[in-house]
Amino acid sequence: MTETIAFIGLGNMGGGMAANQAKAGRKVRAFDLSEAAVARAVEAGCEAAGSVVEAVKDADIVITMLPAGPHVLKVYSEQIIGAAPSSALLLDCSTIDVDTARKVAGLAKEAGYAFADAPVSGGTMAADAGTLAFMVGCDEGDFARIEPALEPMSRATFRAGDHGAGQAAKICNNMILGITMLGTCEAIGLAEKLGLDPVKMFDIVSKSSGQSWSTTTYYPWPGPVPTAPSNRNYDGGFATAMMLKDLKLAQDAAAKSGASTPLGAQTEALFQMFDRLGYGGRDFSAILQLLRGKLDE
Ligand code: NAD
Repeated sequence: MTETIAFIGLGNMGGGMAANQAKAGRKVRAFDLSEAAVARAVEAGCEAAGSVVEAVKDADIVITMLPAGPHVLKVYSEQIIGAAPSSALLLDCSTIDVDTARKVAGLAKEAGYAFADAPVSGGTMAADAGTLAFMVGCDEGDFARIEPALEPMSRATFRAGDHGAGQAAKICNNMILGITMLGTCEAIGLAEKLGLDPVKMFDIVSKSSGQSWSTTTYYPWPGPVPTAPSNRNYDGGFATAMMLKDLKLAQDAAAKSGASTPLGAQTEALFQMFDRLGYGGRDFSAILQLLRGKLDE
């Protein structure tokens, strides 16, 4: 039987993810507050829904890909729980704080649903290609149902632990990402001042010990990685405001748990400054231009 998926949130990430569910032959009912985003999903093989409630009403699986915790809490508590059949599997793939993830899981469980926090790593290229990594927080017995539900969008799916553990893994991962991106950008700025070609630096670093995802998959200087946002004036991709949100989540979690994260704190401060300068909508790798003093070029 063809499974029916309700997909809520069709932005930079959700658009590609919903398209991959449709490509896998599933019936996808798509909703977003943006009509343009819904129109793109329809072009990719999804059906348009007029509201969240309409999208979820006979869904087997509900997937949400929303900006932040308040959106997730509101959409689940007011529009999904009670409107979706109680047999539906509810999967939130947004990156949000652990406490909100646990709260939503509690509300969903109380109403009889299986729920998982299932945030992703990989960026928009992986969302489009169906090669995201999923970090899942769920009841152990639900994982066997969750893995195949995510399969058309995934290259790897891990159960990190119980509810909230997926979000905990994700904020740790993104703290590494923020720090390595800043380190990569600082090194490119230094290389340039020392008379090196940043494209040659890509060749060298991607085969040397300074290599990371920020270099090989997302190089912040245009040219070497054609799919990276640096080639389209840092448009789309992973917005600075989103990275800042994740770095704040990591710092809040560090303060509560007593972990030492001095580099995470410094990275948050720099992305905060970049955001306040008005660049919150630009891809986070554009921070290279702040460090180079070339923001307006
Ligand atoms: P985005 O802003 O492009 O997309 C979010 C979408 O949610 C928008 O289209 C918006 O209109 C929609 N939306 C907001 N409120 C809604 C509501 N009440 N009902 C229906 N739709 C609603 O953001 P994104 O880059 O796609 O990120 C989504 C989530 O994925 C975030 O939590 C982000 O941290 C996480 N994430 C992003 C990336 C990335 O590279 N962009 C990577 C990993 C994880």
